Amino acid sequence: MMKPMTSALPRPADDPWEMALRQFYRACEHIPMKRGIREYLAHPQRELTVNFPVEMEDGTVRVFTGYRVHHSMVLGPTKGGIRYGPQVHLNEVRALAMWMTWKCALMHLPYGGAKGGVACDPRALSPRELERLTRRYATEISIIVGPDRDIPAPDIGTNDQIMAWFMDTISMHAGHSVAAAVTGKPISIGGSAGRREATGRGVMIAAREAARVRGLPFAGARVAVQGFGNVGATAAYLMHDRGCRIVAVSDIYGGIYNPEGFDPRAVLRHVRATGGVGGFPHTTPVSNAALLEIPCDFLVPAAIEGQITRDNAARLKAQIVVEGANGPTTPEADEILEERGVLIVPDILANAGGVIVSYFEWVQDLQSLFWTEAEINERLERIMVRSFDGVVGMAKDREVDLRTAALIFAVRRVADAVLTRGIYP
Ligand code: NAD
Repeated sequence: MMKPMTSALPRPADDPWEMALRQFYRACEHIPMKRGIREYLAHPQRELTVNFPVEMEDGTVRVFTGYRVHHSMVLGPTKGGIRYGPQVHLNEVRALAMWMTWKCALMHLPYGGAKGGVACDPRALSPRELERLTRRYATEISIIVGPDRDIPAPDIGTNDQIMAWFMDTISMHAGHSVAAAVTGKPISIGGSAGRREATGRGVMIAAREAARVRGLPFAGARVAVQGFGNVGATAAYLMHDRGCRIVAVSDIYGGIYNPEGFDPRAVLRHVRATGGVGGFPHTTPVSNAALLEIPCDFLVPAAIEGQITRDNAARLKAQIVVEGANGPTTPEADEILEERGVLIVPDILANAGGVIVSYFEWVQDLQSLFWTEAEINERLERIMVRSFDGVVGMAKDREVDLRTAALIFAVRRVADAVLTRGIYP
């Protein structure tokens, strides 16, 4: 195995980039591919690190570090979110960019994979500081983004307002509105109907299809969700709408549990009023670690990477893990869960709803022709179900787990495109 690249911050144990490479090499064992092509795909094509100043409310100037990584632009312009968080580091961004390449290829979207991030704590910044940071970061990476080059979107710690500032900054530089430069925007400035809910809706569809494959009744199934943000909260209420029993949810401060279940929409109102899920009536507190081991049918990790590891995989009670987050399960945990017969619907399949509807948003912006939410949801459903069935079929054919099956599809598609285009010059 190729040695993973080093990053600014050492992450020895479960480094996301090392995880992404291990998953990739595992899939490569099933794909006839020239060694050089494999090596090429094991490297991000382009990486930009930017250090930039932001004037704070008290008049001081702070320097922030941001990244934008293009893993592969073989299938089209690159696509991937922007993450704001104190833990953001280059190897995390590299891994997330590689996973975006595979996700877009698996879904047949005409995109390569990218990701970006800024090491900062957005909750500790004022709205004006957040806007200045976003506009300066957008300016710094503008040399490699644009509607036909690289199209960012929201991720952890960013939202539609931040995408609006990003789009406005790119537009100010261009001298005209460039709506298609970023997705996940507010609908009023070229965003798409259905985009806010898209990733959670895709997670719900993936869970429903996994229940069908497993012969598990969806209505009444018990669900625990780690990370009650855009993805986790939407998945929770859409699963609740279809009769699932949501027994536990969490955010960065901790979680809540009631084996009888609760209404996630009421929890959302509680979060808006109090800032967190903690203290929601008729629930007991549960830590983020304990939530993963709660008795349930579905576990939906929807927070950050590296949550299900060799240390806790043997204690998970869920029958099915649906990966709302990117990279929540380490390769060692994958093996333990597979041995135990737990079905894992992998991130590049389960959480692809977001990039699918981002693709719809980009297409609508380029055409200045907008679709209804019903049309969006119907197209999303079709792509999710088709991809799910394809991955399940591949897993049966090759006798591999769903992650490896999904990666076989994706990596093969990208490798074929590299060969078809030829090695330049
Ligand atoms: P978000 O910021 O809206 O929500 C993240 C949630 O996780 C919040 O509840 C937060 O409090 C919680 N959280 C953050 N750090 C945590 C930690 N260390 N431990 C426990 N909980 C923590 O982000 P999101 O957009 O919902 O993204 C969640 C995950 O889904 C990420 O892995 C992201 O890459 C992935 N994802 C997001 C999208 C999208 O469209 N937003 C698409 C595909 C995948």
